[in-house]
Amino acid sequence: YLLQLYQPLNIFGFVYRGVKEALIDMEKMFVLLGVDREIADKPGAQPLVVNGGEVRFEDVSFGYDPRRPILKGVSFTVPAGRTVAIVGPSGAGKSTLSRLLFRFYDASGGRILIDGQEISAVTQASLRAAIGIVPQDTVLFNDTIRYNVAYGRTDATQGEVEHAAALAHIDGFIAGLPDGWNTTVGERGLKLSGGEKQRVAIARTILKNPPILMFDEATSALDTHTEREIQRNLREVSRGRTTLIIAHRLSTVVDADEIIVLEEGRVRERGRHADLLAMGGAYAALWVRQQTADPAKDGVVSTQPQP
Ligand code: ATP
Repeated sequence: YLLQLYQPLNIFGFVYRGVKEALIDMEKMFVLLGVDREIADKPGAQPLVVNGGEVRFEDVSFGYDPRRPILKGVSFTVPAGRTVAIVGPSGAGKSTLSRLLFRFYDASGGRILIDGQEISAVTQASLRAAIGIVPQDTVLFNDTIRYNVAYGRTDATQGEVEHAAALAHIDGFIAGLPDGWNTTVGERGLKLSGGEKQRVAIARTILKNPPILMFDEATSALDTHTEREIQRNLREVSRGRTTLIIAHRLSTVVDADEIIVLEEGRVRERGRHADLLAMGGAYAALWVRQQTADPAKDGVVSTQPQP
């Protein structure tokens, strides 16, 4: 009898540990599943109407705890189809900006607008349909690679899924798998490398075809080859989309139309790569630090201002 009682408890402990681990990924899951936590549609909310997909932060303030402000009046605009990169030290509030744009939380001050419409006034479903996310670490389901790619748009035809995989350069990889598109991936199947998982996320995003893209770069150190591959992936998926990059490696941002240097929740500097380097301020210092911290890098980009 005791054993009978013990077993469910034991199972509970097992489930609990699982849940705790899962919590770490919960936010990413929310992103994927479009589940919201505490934010609801306002009564009479209208669907977002996207024209070009201009994203605008106007004097945005926010704190997870009101006693501890994280963003302190941040303003910037990503013009339709352009790319803005956010850089800055750890804890500056970079990822918080992306969470606000996806409306996990509402800003406590200021406004966030897409094509002139305040995101807090439109339906969540329409907002989230307009934004594609390539997260730091993609959640893969214990299912076939076909399921994992098609997750971007569940009504896609096999032809569309294959086309997205080709654009994301993961078709060759899939063709080489033991069971091709039917190979099981995830915890109980094939393990994918960080770069491969990212390409699955890119294929999903291509299928979803959102006008706005958020690219959350992984913090972990990467070898030069993978870093180049990710830069190429980013260029391809961001083409023709309004793109916000949360950047941890400065090599990803050199081509951005504008770079925002965020420090302690404020915009410290802004401009293009070469201009910011020439200014010799915070960005230039970050750049030098990253180059010296990583001498193995064979010059992915030049440290000199480009003409
Ligand atoms: P990193 O480069 O390390 O990813 P970041 O600039 O993206 O940093 P954020 O993730 O935006 O930083 O976090 C900004 C601050 O907000 C940090 O001090 C962090 O501790 C805090 N913070 C982040 N998420 C939460 C949360 N869910 N609840 C409370 N505080 C949080």
